[in-house]
Amino acid sequence: MHPQLEILLQIQDLKTQRRELAETERERQVEELEFHVNVEEAVQELDHKIAEMEAQLTPAIRNRYARIASGRGRAVVPVIQGICYGCFVSIPTALATDSARNDQIRHCDHCGRFLYVIG
Ligand SMILES: [Zn+2]
Repeated sequence: MHPQLEILLQIQDLKTQRRELAETERERQVEELEFHVNVEEAVQELDHKIAEMEAQLTPAIRNRYARIASGRGRAVVPVIQGICYGCFVSIPTALATDSARNDQIRHCDHCGRFLYVIG
């Protein structure tokens, strides 16, 4: 897999984790009281890690990622059986079947999201 694509996936995963960590006040209380998680500190750690990973992206990829993520949520989506799971439009067969498929950074022609092929 392309190293930048790996970083993008990790950033996305960290951001999801961050969002889920303190989604509601009720959940936050459970996490803090029952599991003794310091949510505040954990969020700071995650933010720090996200910033660190973002700094490893090339400026072009970082900008594109920021643009998509701010407008449409997930910026990196899987391609499953030739379908982009960001917009559910089928993508060219060459992209879906190319043996080096995840070794390059690619985008969906329709929605512009970063793609990784998993099936
Ligand atoms: Zn798409």
